[in-house]
Amino acid sequence: MKSLYAIALSLILLTACTSKQEKMKKKLTDFIRKHDSVLIPLYKKTAVASWEAAVSGKPEDFKKAEDLNLKMMALFSDKDKLKILEEIKVSGMITDSLLNRQLDILYRSFLMAKADTGKLNAMVRMGTVIEQKYGNFRTEVKGKKLSDNDVEAVLGSSKDIKYQKEVWEAQKKIGPVVASDVKKLVKLRNEVAKDLGFRNYHEMSLTLSDQDPKEVSQLFDELDSLTKKAFEQVKGDIDSYFVKYYSLKSKDELMPWNYQNRFFQSAPKIYDVDLDKYYKDKNLETLTAEFYAGIGLPINDMLKNSDLYEKPGKNQHAFCTDIDNAGDIRVLCNVKSNQFWMNTMLHEFGHAVYDKNIDTTLPFILRDPAHTFTTEAIAMMFGRFSSNPQWLKDLAGISEEEKIKIAETCFKTLRLEQLVFSRWAQVMYRFKRRCTRTLIRTSTNSGGTWWRNTR
Ligand SMILES: [Zn+2]
Repeated sequence: MKSLYAIALSLILLTACTSKQEKMKKKLTDFIRKHDSVLIPLYKKTAVASWEAAVSGKPEDFKKAEDLNLKMMALFSDKDKLKILEEIKVSGMITDSLLNRQLDILYRSFLMAKADTGKLNAMVRMGTVIEQKYGNFRTEVKGKKLSDNDVEAVLGSSKDIKYQKEVWEAQKKIGPVVASDVKKLVKLRNEVAKDLGFRNYHEMSLTLSDQDPKEVSQLFDELDSLTKKAFEQVKGDIDSYFVKYYSLKSKDELMPWNYQNRFFQSAPKIYDVDLDKYYKDKNLETLTAEFYAGIGLPINDMLKNSDLYEKPGKNQHAFCTDIDNAGDIRVLCNVKSNQFWMNTMLHEFGHAVYDKNIDTTLPFILRDPAHTFTTEAIAMMFGRFSSNPQWLKDLAGISEEEKIKIAETCFKTLRLEQLVFSRWAQVMYRFKRRCTRTLIRTSTNSGGTWWRNTR
């Protein structure tokens, strides 16, 4: 009798539990359906507007992008919706893995609702202002406007130190143009992060994008100890090379403008191989298309929508953006026929083929790379081919003899590239951790907002 009673009771409890579970599941699927009906068209419109602003640099295009970004912000700062998500999350009753992942992402996105709307809107507006100023800025020397490509060409090939210094200092004038806006934005972002219960914006942006700040910092500490000695050694080689190159008396005379790059972010050309010469007469767009078609990942559809060459007012960096999570993927570049841009084209289209091949049957908000690390690793792996002798033979058409001749130096160059970039990345990471992340975008790194990533 007692055991029958127990069975009946557990059956009642199980039924109640199942029906509660079904109720929660329905609540979530209804939520997603409603949210998607607003998000999907708005997401596409916002992505197109941001793309057009980056390409044209026109104030009216930035205004349009800003208005749509504000609408997007409003969508995610709905307190009632956060409450619903919180309730579903706390219940712990979502067992389906796809639904659970969507719940997790939605919950993190809607955390914004806890912040002050005025602050969030100000953040969007300041971000747009800074982006526009960056996009429109051109270095000016003796009344002549220089693109970033022109600046790199002077720093990379001139031996006229006085002129190098003039160009280097002129391109740093972007600093005062955006400094006060950047400081204000940093302050505001930290305030918003604190309102949401994080220590600062750096911690918030990492946590909300599925990264553990402690783990990332540990990785960077490990990277420091792994690269420190090797970097000291190559930095010594670089300095000795430049003392001779510029006919200086000692290393103490070397200045930042002598390192062939605005940020000492790329490897200076200290070895006896000129990779640029292999690309001088080549069409980089064709090489990129041929390479990706050759490995079974054609990119012609994405090339059509991309914007690859310099234009007045256009964003001077490079990024890849997935406009609609349904195949409209675009790359922005400012291509010149040299190794840097070959690397960048391979890198950005590495992101593009990754995005294109994400399963489109997945729910909309899950059609993203598994992690920033994975898409970045793929992009960097492809980018490296630009200094790979076998790749140069297969794609750029150098001879077998040339391939053998440059193989060792190519490897040394690759090593130098990795060491220099690694140390630069470490400086940037630690700098950003201190003042917390700013909106400054670099040539091939990630940017965007928490709801939309450009890579
Ligand atoms: Zn990238």
